[in-house]
Amino acid sequence: MVPPENLSITMTAETTASAITPGSAALHAGALIETRDLRKTYGAGGAEITVLSGVTVSVEPGKLIAVVGPSGAGKSTFLHLLAALDTPTSGTVYFEGKAIDSFQENELANYRNRSLGFVWQRHHLLADFTAAENVAMPLLMRGAGYDEALETSERWLREVGLGERVRQRAGELSGGEQQRVAIARALVQKPALLLADEPTGDLDERNAMAVFELMQRLHREHQLTSILATHNTILAGRADRVLQLEHGKLRPVEA
Ligand code: ADP
Repeated sequence: MVPPENLSITMTAETTASAITPGSAALHAGALIETRDLRKTYGAGGAEITVLSGVTVSVEPGKLIAVVGPSGAGKSTFLHLLAALDTPTSGTVYFEGKAIDSFQENELANYRNRSLGFVWQRHHLLADFTAAENVAMPLLMRGAGYDEALETSERWLREVGLGERVRQRAGELSGGEQQRVAIARALVQKPALLLADEPTGDLDERNAMAVFELMQRLHREHQLTSILATHNTILAGRADRVLQLEHGKLRPVEA
């Protein structure tokens, strides 16, 4: 039996949830991101649906975690809560030990824009802008100079194997190439945490594998902590840990 402190993911019962209040110490020292009794209900009255019904999870830096589960299980909902793109009905997300619902406005902006990178199933690139301009966008939006931003962006595009495509319009790239651009855009600000929601969901098998392997390599080389939602169990099996989301609960899947 592995002692709990040696597990990269520690799932706990919900018994002590009330002892944790926003802003108080998180569960596991050294965790990059954790959730405590996270619940999410959509709708109201008779139309209520509970998607997450108490998710407590702790992720150490450097881990690559796959979240699997059937369509509609709540994987996107979970990632959106981690990214502070949505708010939980109750429960708390902690980043570096601090409750994100206690963040000041500038801390929240920094968290969303600097600490984490997000890759979506659809790449959401600006079709009429070049690959390099798309990747540079987060830097330009925070006030970086155009030349400097483009230089950084081109370096990232070379890292994802698109050194030859930097000046091509995003709309002219293949699906796999577009997703590589989206990955470069997610990483251009050197986030600590990479969240990806079905990043290979729109790709054929060969491209899905290539994009997954790219993410694995970047994860390793840039010391990222990565959480990927996927319904592809073959790819998920290559993560450090696999968590199954079903009936509102997240459970470890044993190898
Ligand atoms: P997954 O990513 O695993 O496919 P989602 O998190 O997208 O699951 O959705 C989980 C459930 O929550 C689904 O039944 C979906 O219809 C519902 N849902 C998601 N977002 C909303 C919303 N904004 N309003 C109402 N229901 C929603």
